Amino acid sequence: MTLPRSADVVVVGGGVVGCSLAYHLALRGLRDVLILEREAVGSGTTSKAAGGIRAQFSTETEIRFSLESIAVFERFVEEFGVDPGYRKIGYLFLVSDPVDLTGFQERMALQRRLGVDVRLLSPDDARGLVPALRVDDLIGAVWGPEDGMAGPAEVTAGFARRAREMGACIVEGVEVSAFIVEHGRVAGVRTSQGDVGTRVVINAAGPTAARVARLAGVSVPVLPRRRHIFFTEPFPELPGPVPLTTDRASGFYFRKEMEQLLLSPGDVEDVGADLAAPVDWSRVEETVEKALYRLPIVEKARVAGGWAGLRPLTPDDHAIIGWAPGVEGFFLAVGFGGHGFQHSPATGRHVAEWLVEGKPSLDLSLFDPARFARGARRAASHGPDAE
Ligand SMILES: Cc1cc2nc3c(=O)[nH]c(=O)nc-3n(C[C@H](O)[C@H](O)[C@H](O)COP(=O)(O)OP(=O)(O)OC[C@H]3O[C@@H](n4cnc5c(N)ncnc54)[C@H](O)[C@@H]3O)c2cc1C
Repeated sequence: MTLPRSADVVVVGGGVVGCSLAYHLALRGLRDVLILEREAVGSGTTSKAAGGIRAQFSTETEIRFSLESIAVFERFVEEFGVDPGYRKIGYLFLVSDPVDLTGFQERMALQRRLGVDVRLLSPDDARGLVPALRVDDLIGAVWGPEDGMAGPAEVTAGFARRAREMGACIVEGVEVSAFIVEHGRVAGVRTSQGDVGTRVVINAAGPTAARVARLAGVSVPVLPRRRHIFFTEPFPELPGPVPLTTDRASGFYFRKEMEQLLLSPGDVEDVGADLAAPVDWSRVEETVEKALYRLPIVEKARVAGGWAGLRPLTPDDHAIIGWAPGVEGFFLAVGFGGHGFQHSPATGRHVAEWLVEGKPSLDLSLFDPARFARGARRAASHGPDAE
């Protein structure tokens, strides 16, 4: 596809976030939207996501994002004509530390007030859900039966398909290399295929967001951190469905994917400036060790492969959504950490509303790009880093 020379809105990045943005902007009548994707749609960190979807967050804004997004996943086939494989397998958190449990209880009160079905289980009840679990060291478990999973590739394809049908343009294989800024205002972007004039650019560049922001002279604390997921050969010894189960003590999590078992060590690793995330096979040993402790039956499983990806974290683990300070016309939708896939439907809708109506209907100050200049960082009672 040839690159248009102008657009009302340019979105940098064709991941699940960029495609949701384009869809929702088009839905609200802003159809001259251009997504510029340096590789292929959905090939970025979206292709590495485990597909987990939960309402168990620690803030009202994020819980509302979850509830809105879950409603979209429930009707995704009808709205987008793509089956995302959405299933309510639930999220189960295994807790062995009393302080951790208190944090969960505080968050559960908020979640329940907002209508989330979340329950405190005994260790034995947890073993009722996952019979192979070791539970003798647990003091409880937190169970969200309405949580679940879906396919990130299918969801991204659904957003992209409908966005295109409504007039949005998606160009793959084109990299944004500079911003054209005149008198403190965005006037366009420079790309590997020439310039595009626009008065609004949205940074949806995932783990590369800080680098893209720097092209406009804006500093954004998006910190890409590597995480691994390994998978076993078909493992009927642990029949599905199995909830996405996180061992809070070690960070290890697992769930079933078809007949296989997905295992993640829950690693959070700085990979340095080149932002590459190759698989470090020495992580298999650590993963299997954590798995054997919590799920001894894994002894009978064989690891068949794995992958690694970058989660775009921020210092307080909340996303960054809003106008970038210092450059008019530059909007940020970045820093989604381990929950960018599941929050993509709500992110798209709220950002589109903000751009078209002039302000969002929900208070999005939690995501304020300027908060880090005021010293924002992770709160002690912050919720689980589950994916
Ligand atoms: C191992 C792992 C497990 C995860 N599990 C989950 C989960 O269970 N649930 C969940 O909700 N989330 C999960 N996540 C997080 C989720 O993958 C991300 O939050 C989400 O995919 C971010 O989407 P995005 O569109 O912002 O980024 P991306 O998908 O990375 O999209 C950004 C795009 O921008 C493009 N780009 C970058 N720079 C430029 C440029 N200069 N010009 C043009 N294009 C550019 C890139 O090529 C890329 O395609 C997981 C992540 C990892 C790594």
